[in-house]
Amino acid sequence: MVFTVAIVGRPNVGKSTFFNRLLEQRKAIVDDVSGVTRDRQYGVTEWIGKSFNVIDTGGFVANTSDIFETEIRKQVKIAIEEANAIIFMVDVTTGITDLDQSVADLLRRSTKPVFLCVNKVDNSERMLEATEFYSLGFEKIFFVSSISGSGTGEILDAVAELI
Ligand code: GDP
Ligand code: MG
Repeated sequence: MVFTVAIVGRPNVGKSTFFNRLLEQRKAIVDDVSGVTRDRQYGVTEWIGKSFNVIDTGGFVANTSDIFETEIRKQVKIAIEEANAIIFMVDVTTGITDLDQSVADLLRRSTKPVFLCVNKVDNSERMLEATEFYSLGFEKIFFVSSISGSGTGEILDAVAELI
């Protein structure tokens, strides 16, 4: 079975940007499994000779706060079930939000490996701000800028180590 990593997190943190970057860099194929899982995008990527599936979640989350939390929690639970590891994405420009805390609570209860990925760390000033995310208590934390691609190699290394 192919190792699968799911990207979870609240809307607008940059999950899809990160997903596209992972796939584009590795010339991977995005498989649109429409009708089955319209709220998720699947792709296959390769890093240091290892192939794995990547799932981008949350494509169709409705834009009202109540549905938001229920939907996100649902997607995180599905991801925990179907993936071998989770990339939990947060956004340095907003800091830690209630929704981030809610996702973090679910992930802490899972036995799957979790990589906390602080996105939008586009410059050194944001790198300093990003340290607040250590307080979420995840051992493996990464700082990336999905727009520039910086930091993505470290995450891929960590994922590949599990395969
Ligand atoms: P999603 O809802 O989590 O899938 O988030 P998207 O990938 O759609 O991104 C939400 C917004 O954040 C978009 O306007 C992106 O261009 C922006 N964004 C994503 N990654 C970065 C980043 O590394 N730096 C900055 N400055 N903006 C980013
Ligand atoms: Mg998205």
